[in-house]
Amino acid sequence: MGGLRPEGTRDAHHERHTEETVAQQGRWRRRTRRERRSQRTSDRRVECGERNPREAGSLCAGLSSSGGPLLETTCPLCSSLSSFEAGFSDVQLYRCSQCDHCYTDQSKLKHFEEYSAAYYELHHKNWNLYPDFHLFEAIYNETKPYGPNARILDVGCGKGAFLKYLRSREPGYELTGLDMSSSPPSAGITFVQGDFLSSQLNKDFDVVVSLAVIEHVTDVSVFVDGLYRLSRPGGLVVVMTLDDRSVIYSVSRTLFRWGIKAPFERLYSRHHLHHFNVSSLNRLMKQHQLLVNITIHHNNRLAAVDFSESSFLKRIVFLIGVLVSFLIGKLFNKTLLQTVVCKK
Ligand SMILES: [Zn+2]
Repeated sequence: MGGLRPEGTRDAHHERHTEETVAQQGRWRRRTRRERRSQRTSDRRVECGERNPREAGSLCAGLSSSGGPLLETTCPLCSSLSSFEAGFSDVQLYRCSQCDHCYTDQSKLKHFEEYSAAYYELHHKNWNLYPDFHLFEAIYNETKPYGPNARILDVGCGKGAFLKYLRSREPGYELTGLDMSSSPPSAGITFVQGDFLSSQLNKDFDVVVSLAVIEHVTDVSVFVDGLYRLSRPGGLVVVMTLDDRSVIYSVSRTLFRWGIKAPFERLYSRHHLHHFNVSSLNRLMKQHQLLVNITIHHNNRLAAVDFSESSFLKRIVFLIGVLVSFLIGKLFNKTLLQTVVCKK
């Protein structure tokens, strides 16, 4: 445009006016771009809640500043980039591109569970009613080399089912149970209530066991470091958790994409902050100088499955689905649970 107007006709007022107009147009263009971006972001937010998780992952890119899920976060195990995988309610799940570890973005959770007695009654009633004695026996066999007076610590002992089992098998064992909630007294077992990182415990146990706890812990690295410090050199650290690459987890992810969300929301409950696979659990142990000697692939007892389905038909369908997933998982070592026995 400027080329059409002879240079000599421009006066100061006109130049000032032109500069103001250009600045005004610039502001208008920037504001329009901001509004368009904001509209697109708003549209994406709506879609994220409704589309399948894989699509949502790509749609939700870059929403960090506006409260939606981040496209990527840093893996708490290996510090590699992790991509958004799926989300529901205030649970946003990420999976590490390097170690395949899956975890919940804790910054998005509205509150953390306090694990009172009511929590166990509500969410793990059957789990506590029907302990896995096969697993207890397998762990007991690993404790035998430490003699009839071995010192055993159970971190997150609940009501002490595992320690009571050990007591029945080996009356000479020195047994200590630690839990955030109180445990009913039991002969021959010392129960300590509190956080194991701040509790004044004898840091010299032959065997430190933690069953179905690590998936609830905010900082798994600090947790495993605590287990390591409480065990004596040459002692054992035994950790049991779920396996995110088990058959039942895979089925739940598929059903979630098809719109059947209950199994997925149950397994990836907001109480479970970390979803280990065999590889990521091994990696974490190795990072803390714990050598994984044995990995036990196992399912819990069918009676121990807790579920919230109200109708009889839904319960039957749910239980058949769990049973089939358990059996296939057992065939391929892709069971719901994994237990590692590690040497310090
Ligand atoms: Zn990782």
